[in-house]
Amino acid sequence: MSELRYHGIAGHIGKTPLIRLQALSEVTGCEILGKAEFMNPGGSVKDRAAQGIIDDAEAKGFLKPGATIVEGTAGNTGIGLTVVGHSKGYQTVIVIPETQSPEKISLLRTLGAEVITVPEKPYSDPGNYNHVAQRLAKEKGWFWANQFDNLANRHAHYCTTGPEMWEQTKGNVDAFVASVGTGGTLAGTALYLKEKNPNVAVVCADPYGAAMWSWFTQGNGETKDGDSVAEGIGQTRITKNLEGIVVDKAYRITDQAAVTIVNQLLRQEGLFLGLSSGINIAGAVRFARESGPGKTIVTILCDSGHKYQSKLYNPSWLQDRKLDPNLPIDSLWA
Ligand code: PMP
Repeated sequence: MSELRYHGIAGHIGKTPLIRLQALSEVTGCEILGKAEFMNPGGSVKDRAAQGIIDDAEAKGFLKPGATIVEGTAGNTGIGLTVVGHSKGYQTVIVIPETQSPEKISLLRTLGAEVITVPEKPYSDPGNYNHVAQRLAKEKGWFWANQFDNLANRHAHYCTTGPEMWEQTKGNVDAFVASVGTGGTLAGTALYLKEKNPNVAVVCADPYGAAMWSWFTQGNGETKDGDSVAEGIGQTRITKNLEGIVVDKAYRITDQAAVTIVNQLLRQEGLFLGLSSGINIAGAVRFARESGPGKTIVTILCDSGHKYQSKLYNPSWLQDRKLDPNLPIDSLWA
């Protein structure tokens, strides 16, 4: 048989471009580079985790043909599990907090997932979306993806995101910046990069209302005041995926800083991004300004703005939350 040259979508997750953020690179004197994860088939960085979790479950015999996968997700993991799942003959049931963008919820339904919306509850509450998914898996005999504590998640980033960044920068990378949902992206990529070069700075960009800044700078999760409208990030506990990693720096990033960045990138560079990308880029800019020119800083462009047109890109929605899309970029360091 001749060598297989073409692949279905499962063969096209990852290998995303590394895009230079032009204006922010110029103004800081650093190379600020974003991994274009919105170009994955399901439109986000979570396609990698979804594929890693499915492959791992198949290898361990947890997924049999025609099986149903259930997961609690802010949306993107559900989209990833559904597209990868369809390519392998699995059905998905997605439990999602009703506060997530209507675009993600309707997209999941269009893709063919069974979607269960639940009120937003903290992790300590049995009604939290993750616990609902876990209970459903037990009752129905479905496979629970368990992205927060399933190490196949970070392993996917260790095997793909980290090596791709290393190759794309030819090993010339000074810092890697990421925010945390499950922590899979931050941890898996950081583990790989630190293995290649322990001097690569691993930087966490944290929204308000989350406790990662507190964990990584104070060793406890006590500081988690404030709030953020960013979806898919904002963790308060050390998930299994975060255990044992070294984080050199952490910053708290305001939603306004992220809103300023995503609007500037859209209008000046044609990059249309979600808010977690803005939080990540704001972290990269903070690191650039602290460390001075000449550094190469890589971050994650997690998903695109298409999923947030009714919120983040809706002027009246922003106004109600006292967020201004028109602030000049200089306001970031004023
Ligand atoms: N940004 C978005 C938009 C996401 O959906 C997620 C995943 N929930 C993240 C960032 C964070 O990725 P991770 O789960 O790997 O920490």
